[in-house]
Amino acid sequence: MIGGGLCGLTAAIRLAQTGIKVELFEAAPKAGGRTRSFIDKTTGELCDNGPHLLIGAYEATQRLLNDCDATANVTWQPSLKLSLWDEQRNHFRLQPNAYMPFAMALLVAVKALPDHDWRSAAAMLRLARQLDQNDQINTSVAELFTIAAIPANLRRDMLEPICLGVMNEDISTASAATFKRVIKESFASKTSARLGWFNAPLDKALITPLLEKAEQLGVTIRTGYRVRSVQEQAGGIVEVNGKPFAAAILALPAYAAATLLGIDNCFQTRAITNVHLWFRDHCGLPEPLIGGIGTTGEWFFDVSQAFQQTPSLRHLCAVISADENRISDEALVAQISHEIGLISGVDLAPVHHRIIREKRATVLVRNYQPMFTASSRIIDACEAPTPGQLPATIEFAVLRGEKAASEVCKLLT
Ligand SMILES: Cc1cc2nc3c(=O)[nH]c(=O)nc-3n(C[C@H](O)[C@H](O)[C@H](O)COP(=O)(O)OP(=O)(O)OC[C@H]3O[C@@H](n4cnc5c(N)ncnc54)[C@H](O)[C@@H]3O)c2cc1C
Repeated sequence: MIGGGLCGLTAAIRLAQTGIKVELFEAAPKAGGRTRSFIDKTTGELCDNGPHLLIGAYEATQRLLNDCDATANVTWQPSLKLSLWDEQRNHFRLQPNAYMPFAMALLVAVKALPDHDWRSAAAMLRLARQLDQNDQINTSVAELFTIAAIPANLRRDMLEPICLGVMNEDISTASAATFKRVIKESFASKTSARLGWFNAPLDKALITPLLEKAEQLGVTIRTGYRVRSVQEQAGGIVEVNGKPFAAAILALPAYAAATLLGIDNCFQTRAITNVHLWFRDHCGLPEPLIGGIGTTGEWFFDVSQAFQQTPSLRHLCAVISADENRISDEALVAQISHEIGLISGVDLAPVHHRIIREKRATVLVRNYQPMFTASSRIIDACEAPTPGQLPATIEFAVLRGEKAASEVCKLLT
């Protein structure tokens, strides 16, 4: 196994469960990849690379967490409640009635948003009708919105934030086929249409349970071990850094695999910026998660509240998807602090901040070609989503890991 992120750990667990001997190589000193945590030296807090949000439709992820005894590490909303804020309307929320049939409740909830009426509900119905239509492979989300005549307020308040948040890409270039799949799966029912968040740092809530499970199953994990060569040899052998194996799984972002294999990097990525702020007073948010409309930060997480902690410093984090801003750290901290002041109603300066700009946070959905033939003993589980597949998310990583494990099983049995 090459790569010890969520995809590699999932594949290692699923393979080891079938009795296959697995060795996992991870270049970094610790497993976790993009779902990693680090110690913030000033506060001593175990802090996430970026807060990760889950949706009820992440079924493979929920199965994996269950198999690793980590189900309790996610706090799920009982049913969908999306809290939003903007300067004109202040706090408002999309909250379908939990006792009505879900599709009907969603339409009623959309109509009830401030600045919306029956036109938004009708537009949702037109969008729903488009979900089963086949588009050209390169149709963008913006084109889909034009076809479904989606009004500007519905784009701004709901559909654009969903596209940015889940696909990490602007509607003008994001794939309509993938967006449709996200919408279909996320809003299929009351249980799929709900949000969840880890109630402890990713390292504790997600990665440690997976590592413990992998170790229990006998997986050998080598961290701080960068794979520099992987080659298929005659006689059904794959050499990884010169060591022979019956098969190898590449569980990397595709651009990292391109470097490893010495092939062209045609894989497009976008950045995500996380602005972590610590406040002395308890100027927390009214909810663990609030979506900002017309704000620089798109999602505002009250990390201390999500972790059910009352530490001496309150930890909040603003997420900026598809971040192409070039503003200085100082200006960004001032802007986000100002926005948090408006949202929380308490105007305070943070006592400490940390900005994490993950330049290649996710690989974008594009029409990529496979890296290997179907008969190869090198299995490609890299993050390189194509139109109609899920975008680069936790669920996509888990599904890629499971698929690669089942391909290796077929190959070896
Ligand atoms: C800031 C941020 C926020 C996100 N938010 C969300 C969210 O809210 N919800 C959601 O569902 N998804 C989110 N994602 C996406 C999600 O984190 C990723 O899609 C997922 O973690 C990818 O897992 P992976 O195992 O495929 O890749 P990675 O986690 O990148 O793992 C690949 C591993 O391979 C290792 N590696 C690379 N080269 C080598 C080599 N030559 N030899 C050995 N090891 C190597 C790397 O060190 C790394 O550990 C977010 C991502 C980021 C960056």
